Amino acid sequence: MKKHRVIQKVEFVGSFPEAPAQTALPEVAFVGRSNVGKSSAINALLNRKKAARVGRTPGRTQAINVFELDQELRFIDLPGYGFAKVPEYVRAQWGKMIENYLFDRPILKLVVVLVDGRHNVQPLDLQMIKALQQGSVPFLIVATKIDRIKRSKRKHTLSVLKKGLAVPPSNFVPFSSETKEGLAILWNKIDEACK
Ligand code: GDP
Repeated sequence: MKKHRVIQKVEFVGSFPEAPAQTALPEVAFVGRSNVGKSSAINALLNRKKAARVGRTPGRTQAINVFELDQELRFIDLPGYGFAKVPEYVRAQWGKMIENYLFDRPILKLVVVLVDGRHNVQPLDLQMIKALQQGSVPFLIVATKIDRIKRSKRKHTLSVLKKGLAVPPSNFVPFSSETKEGLAILWNKIDEACK
């Protein structure tokens, strides 16, 4: 496997109902639809089994979870969006929370937008990407669960998705938390963004 950064110390800073105060540390935020594999991806990056909670009832977590890594960098786990079974007003509140965090944050170096690698483009994902582009917020697409796509179909499935998202190839990382494919590439892109 390719070399990538290995985090020694992970400190859970806390769960915040709104954007936490900025510190001097660079931040990398993670967003995506509920159940896309966001917690699993964060755990894979941190090489921990359960820094972020996996597989809980989707849509439950409305808080912004903050992790401090080796006292150098912060990972910001934003609430998953698009969970159908919550009332519209709750969804609107989450949208506001995410927005308030994302668009007024000089310390934010990169937003990792997780999309399901098995599916074609989802409207909410496109909406998120357009908003980030309009706000000039640097972002990266991570296509999750690629271990679930048959090898023979992988290239085609991912190229359709990439085309639909209309992002440059260097902004698109196929990823699996199961097999750790894409992990080194993702870490390197995070490091690059935080330099
Ligand atoms: P979150 O709601 O976005 O944080 O998603 P989770 O990380 O909790 O994952 C949702 C479900 O997808 C769980 O059952 C995970 O085990 C599964 N999952 C997440 N990532 C992967 C992956 O890369 N491959 C496979 N096969 N399953 C995954």
